[in-house]
Amino acid sequence: MADTEEIKKNEEGEVKTSKNFIEQIIDEDLAEGKYSKIVTRFPPEPNGYLHIGHAKSILLNYGLAKEYGGVFNLRFDDTNPTKEKTEFVESIAKDVEWLGADFHGDIYFASDYFDNMYEIAEKFIQKGIAYVDDSTADEIRAMRGTLTEPGVNSPYRDRSVEENLQLFRDMRDGKFEDGSKVLRAKIDMASPNINMRDPIIYRIARMYHHNTGDKWCIYPMYDFAHPIEDAVEGVTHSICTLEFEDHRPLYDWVVREAEFKNPPKQIEFSKLYLTNVVTGKRYIKKLVEDGVVDGWDDPRLVTLAALRRRGFTPESLKMFMELAGVSKSQSSCDYAMLEYCIREDLKPKAPRVLGVLDPVKLIIDNYPEGQMESLPIDNNSDDPNAGQREITFSRELYIEREDFMEEPPKKYFRMFPGNEVRLKGAYFAKCTGCVKDENGNVVEIHATYDPETRLGDCATRKVKGTIHWVNALDCVDAEVRLYENLIDEEKGKLNEDGTLNFNPNSLTVCPNAKLEKSLANAEPTKAFQFIRNGYFCVDSKDSKEDKQVWNRIVGLKSSYKPAN
Ligand code: ATP
Ligand code: MG
Repeated sequence: MADTEEIKKNEEGEVKTSKNFIEQIIDEDLAEGKYSKIVTRFPPEPNGYLHIGHAKSILLNYGLAKEYGGVFNLRFDDTNPTKEKTEFVESIAKDVEWLGADFHGDIYFASDYFDNMYEIAEKFIQKGIAYVDDSTADEIRAMRGTLTEPGVNSPYRDRSVEENLQLFRDMRDGKFEDGSKVLRAKIDMASPNINMRDPIIYRIARMYHHNTGDKWCIYPMYDFAHPIEDAVEGVTHSICTLEFEDHRPLYDWVVREAEFKNPPKQIEFSKLYLTNVVTGKRYIKKLVEDGVVDGWDDPRLVTLAALRRRGFTPESLKMFMELAGVSKSQSSCDYAMLEYCIREDLKPKAPRVLGVLDPVKLIIDNYPEGQMESLPIDNNSDDPNAGQREITFSRELYIEREDFMEEPPKKYFRMFPGNEVRLKGAYFAKCTGCVKDENGNVVEIHATYDPETRLGDCATRKVKGTIHWVNALDCVDAEVRLYENLIDEEKGKLNEDGTLNFNPNSLTVCPNAKLEKSLANAEPTKAFQFIRNGYFCVDSKDSKEDKQVWNRIVGLKSSYKPAN
């Protein structure tokens, strides 16, 4: 992982590090004339929502295609109809588009190549390198051998080409029961690589397929199908994660024996892992099913749907992937690095606004009752071109409950009786006391303001504290949701019983937040910085016209932490 100190940006402001090992391979291939045009692909199985790990694969594949003036394909690996759903096809395509990975409007499906695969299977039979095996699944497993012992040839291994061809066609034509026969590649039962010990390449399974319906009752296995899908599309570099390294000899065998010209080559890189969160479709699915989170797009998850809803931007994910780098060594990225990236991205973009999360009334006793005035304020102090807007000030304001203390400790410079603070962008105000309810809770704070300090300026004296506020007469009511990591890795990712160690504070709801009036019509997912509180956006799912819901995208470096 690159240290944040080392981040370099090119003229377009994109982070750029030196060439990764895949770029080096592509450079060599181009120099040797192996390929003339680079084609990459992202091949998801439509069996769940995409997560941040997939974003790495998408941005890597798309980034390479773009860098080399090539083509990037989105292809669904829909060869296993039992687990697949069209719902996921749509969500995945939307996520890929959101990331900015241009798949030129065409979505490919592995199932579109079932005919090619079938033909290649027949070709393998004709070449004497595939055979129909009647052994049961258990028998096949037992004959496969172990890491230390070679496998044993199946009694069906030496069937004639004619017999195999007839049996395979009968398999296709539905003449046999599900699971009663398989087609196997005839490679080497003594190979040190178990994947090469006559792997199964077709099975019989009467399953309805979303694309091909009931046309097929035989389906190809992944290791046979995937290289063919790549080759048919003219993919040059088939980039996958490390667990497929041992499958590469089989990948190469399939494309070679199928006699593709200019076959693709498989390159493996290590998966992205992130601390304090859950990656892996299977694990995320379980959290959803167990009700630990509220759906696939719960903002505490790192699915792309969740990140988008929470307010993360494609640019921040791109920056994160650049920093994380591409390599073959397993490592886990710090979640703090992702937070760094989103802050960096939002800092120049997000307007600064006033929002009070845990409000308490502040009454300015010497300000005329019923009067309201407008004050100009910068939209973004980090961007001189962002202009100004008007905010309103009146006798009744809200401030953050934690910005007042009746008996402050040393070095507390915010509101306490006798102390003067700056109300951000408005006036200096001096606290005169507070009102409490019968239980001793502060319900109202009182202060007087100095009309000579308009816009928070004063030539003659200084104040040590500046606090944010909103006008109680015209502010917007909102629910604000604050998030922490779902998993607390400080105490270990797993409990003693092997269950995940959930952070009980992963969600904090501020039900009565008060926001400045200009936010009344804020668009979902558009980010704002609530001064002193972090970056926020309107929740696209739960926000209602009469009650907004906001998500905290990320805190500022030092940020409001709810007391719990
Ligand atoms: P999961 O491990 O979450 O179940 P998967 O690998 O089963 O994911 P697929 O839909 O099969 O999901 O994967 C599509 C592509 O995304 C594959 O090329 C896979 O290698 C890649 N991919 C999956 N997880 C990661 C990750 N954590 N980091 C990088 N690439 C990943
Ligand atoms: Mg998978």
